[in-house]
Amino acid sequence: MRIHESLALVASLQFGLGGRFDCHVYAIRGLSGLVLIDSGAGTHTSELLQQIATDLPGSAVTSLLLTHCHQVHSGGAATIRAVTGCSIIAPQPSKPILESGDEEGSGLRVAREQGTYPPELHLEACVVDIAVGDGQKFSAAGLEFTAMQVRGHSPDAFVYLTSSLGPRWLFSGDVVFYGGVLGVINAAGSGMEGYRSDLHKLSGLAVDGLFPGHGLFALRDGQRHLDSAVVQAGKGLLGRQIGQDGL
Ligand SMILES: [Zn+2]
Repeated sequence: MRIHESLALVASLQFGLGGRFDCHVYAIRGLSGLVLIDSGAGTHTSELLQQIATDLPGSAVTSLLLTHCHQVHSGGAATIRAVTGCSIIAPQPSKPILESGDEEGSGLRVAREQGTYPPELHLEACVVDIAVGDGQKFSAAGLEFTAMQVRGHSPDAFVYLTSSLGPRWLFSGDVVFYGGVLGVINAAGSGMEGYRSDLHKLSGLAVDGLFPGHGLFALRDGQRHLDSAVVQAGKGLLGRQIGQDGL
């Protein structure tokens, strides 16, 4: 589903694209190929690749950026890398988990036991070609990105900022959603402590487009959603959390 001249939503459980466990997967047309943001859960990767070809034809996937190692965001990475030959770019803390297919570290084992995910869902080990650190700048398909670690949803949660196509776009994974909703979940490694340390990094970014891993996205005034979360947390209040409004 094209949402901008150079941007498409190519999988999403909520929009009925791909599989029922897929996060939002975005495809950006860069100067020298396509960049994917997250991979989906890996159950419907062939449909995802077909959707890319439909929405942004004529360009090959050259890079896959992962926001964190949760199954619905990274489960399809190994297959996408194998099929397209793209480079996997992931947060440094995600690398050992992804490369060993560590379902304990990724939280998948517990999520399966809770019934969040079905027994047949598994994390396929995936090579990470480039592991990025907090504040690191890098290029993908001719676009410049800045990686930022914002802990709280998970210890390895990163967001990616780019302004190479004009507007300033932030791909926020499960860190911050539309309306300033935070991604705190009842799982090991998730909590407000990470947000208290890192949320300030999202201040003053002058973000136009905000593209989270679930729920609504915004093509303009994205910064107001980030500011809402930052202000609320700055008052010592919890604010809105994922799961409270159907996200
Ligand atoms: Zn997550």
